[in-house]
Amino acid sequence: MSKGIIIAIDGFSSTGKSTIAKLLAEKYNYIYVDTGAMYRAVTLYAKQNDFVGKDFFDEEKLISNLKNISLSFHFNADLGFAEMFLNGVNVEKEIRTLEVSQLVSKVSAISEVRRKLVAEQQIMGEDNGIVMDGRDIGTVVFPKAELKLFMTASADKRATRRYKELIDRGDKVDFKDILFNVEERDRIDSTREDSPLMKAEDAIEFDNSDMGIKEQFDRICALVDRRI
Ligand code: C5P
Repeated sequence: MSKGIIIAIDGFSSTGKSTIAKLLAEKYNYIYVDTGAMYRAVTLYAKQNDFVGKDFFDEEKLISNLKNISLSFHFNADLGFAEMFLNGVNVEKEIRTLEVSQLVSKVSAISEVRRKLVAEQQIMGEDNGIVMDGRDIGTVVFPKAELKLFMTASADKRATRRYKELIDRGDKVDFKDILFNVEERDRIDSTREDSPLMKAEDAIEFDNSDMGIKEQFDRICALVDRRI
């Protein structure tokens, strides 16, 4: 049996990458890896240990403690996706807060953090059909991925989606803070020195500002079927 292809999905924050990735993984029976969850979990660890906060960041402390951070995904059949565990504890909810979103781009700009997580991500893609989303999947993690997608949408549309997600789960947040965070993360992620967010030369771009999930999914499945 063929081992399946690698589908790399990169793009700006809240462009619906994970929604499409989950649907693809379900349809093709592939493993889905949300690499943003891994950067968020490292950020949560740094926050819990007071290595990072709104106005400070002890990079050296974080770097020397990276060996103490163990990340794993555990599939939750009720939810239909794998949840993020940090040192054996389910942190799926904590890593999605606005507070973590406000710190994650600082943490993910550190080369030592990236090196650790990229190595783990590459191992996950060794044997199986995989769909992985993030910022550097098509450029750094799997530059030879069979299919690369690059998702964009207007900042306003993206912030509206994120705001709805957080309100729906009961978080108290202001729309203007979400919009600021979405734009600020894109700025830091795109301008950092190590593995900045950019479209791989051979990636196919999707602007989904005005495209529904079904239309996007159908188009992407046609691309996947051709690659397989
Ligand atoms: O995908 P998500 O929005 O959850 O990612 C959170 C943050 O993690 C991004 O804003 C970015 O700073 C970082 N990230 C990254 N490289 C990846 C995935 C996420 O730097 N492959």
